[in-house]
Amino acid sequence: MSNQPTHHMTPEQFRQYGKQVVDWVADYYEQIESLPVLSKVAPGDIRRQLPISPPKHGESFDQLLHDMDAIILQGVTHWQSPNFFAFFPANTSGPAILGDLLSSALGVQGMLWATSPACTELETHVLDWLVGMLGLPDKFLSSSSGGGVIQDTASSATLCAMLAARERATGYASNQQGISSKLVAYTSTQAHSSLEKAAMIAGIGLDNLRLIELDENYAMRPELLRSQIEKDKRDGKVPFFACGTVGTTSSNAMDPLPAIAEICREHGLWFHVDAAMSGTSALCPEFRHFQDGVEHADSYCFNPHKWMFTNFDCDCFYVADRAALIKTLSILPEYLKNQATESGAVLDYRDWQIPLGRRFRSLKLWFVIRHYGVEGLQFHVRQHVAIAQSFAQWVRDDERFEVVAPVPLNLVCFRYRGTDDENQKVMDRLNQSGDLYLTHTRLRDRFVLRFCVGQTNTELHHVEQAWRRIQQEALKLQADAK
Ligand code: PLP
Repeated sequence: MSNQPTHHMTPEQFRQYGKQVVDWVADYYEQIESLPVLSKVAPGDIRRQLPISPPKHGESFDQLLHDMDAIILQGVTHWQSPNFFAFFPANTSGPAILGDLLSSALGVQGMLWATSPACTELETHVLDWLVGMLGLPDKFLSSSSGGGVIQDTASSATLCAMLAARERATGYASNQQGISSKLVAYTSTQAHSSLEKAAMIAGIGLDNLRLIELDENYAMRPELLRSQIEKDKRDGKVPFFACGTVGTTSSNAMDPLPAIAEICREHGLWFHVDAAMSGTSALCPEFRHFQDGVEHADSYCFNPHKWMFTNFDCDCFYVADRAALIKTLSILPEYLKNQATESGAVLDYRDWQIPLGRRFRSLKLWFVIRHYGVEGLQFHVRQHVAIAQSFAQWVRDDERFEVVAPVPLNLVCFRYRGTDDENQKVMDRLNQSGDLYLTHTRLRDRFVLRFCVGQTNTELHHVEQAWRRIQQEALKLQADAK
């Protein structure tokens, strides 16, 4: 044994500090409602409080926790506050946090089945569970030709889908030869910006991503998709990929999946469905109709890290034909060769994603599903939707406001019946107050407030209080105008 001093944290110290950290987390959640939701710091405020150079000698753990409170918390926007109504949620929960802690503790790298069989097999199993839980088609099960995999984000899932579609459309030649400029992809003008990013990265080019116009509900108009594909074909282009969205980011619009699927089938396009936030609603049978048509999809993704109480990052990505995805993304250098892979009896998820390495993300998802049970998850999703619907009704009942888009689930797009500047003022004042946090979008070229109910601990009384605050700001605007 060497007599060299070690700088590591001993298991005994870990036990002690770990308890302190768990207490810190529990205290944080107990007091979170008293904290301003949107951080109030100015650019540079946090860095100014940090030493210019790293410590030469290790510091005490107490000092680290002290600085979490003294420095870091000021610069945190509290996404887990029940008064967070901005963007789409990125919610979490006790079982998710603890599952993630165990994943960190094991620290396995699940690039191959052989590098930690449980990492692969639990992921396959939980993703198969979710097929049933969301009413997805059997072709997405690992026991069929397809299967599911956890990606970091919906952006990565969409990119993988587009790459596989590109390869399929070129007879798996474009990985080798590069791509022609003839390939054309389609989505709606309201699709998430990750579609544009995927087209940029996959070498398709933004000029070859067609953004199809909308109906009065901000959903893609399938007849325009059809005519655009026909025109592109006449012009010698090769349509290869279309994406429909279940719950667009701006206004939660639902694209008509069955009609898009039919057009994709007729013209041989890969059909991807992006249900990043709203996919979670399919846990409840009464909301599954928004996904009708998914049975015709080549690929599908949704984010438990948005609305299913599972901390970032966790996107579930399904394909109907896993061979197409694997053929697109597989490279097997000598140093990764192993008997299990060669036997063909295992899945190696490195072939289903962009990076090689991967964390044990299924642990947190498994903990969430087992802690809540299907009924528990359904209960909370239903509650969020019911609260959002109540909020929409209060807005409709107040003649100073209007709801400006359909409210299928948990997002309400609304505005004060005034100018864009007045709406901006309402939002800025509310956010600066720290009482709640909401964000905006533009619909029909008007500034629109977005109010999304999806944080784990949001209850009716939080939303009632938020509505009172919004009404107070309206009163102030009326007073300003006098
Ligand atoms: N798709 C939709 C419909 C979204 O709303 C979002 C994010 O809000 C994304 C994709 C991108 O999500 P991610 O951060 O997982 O890439």
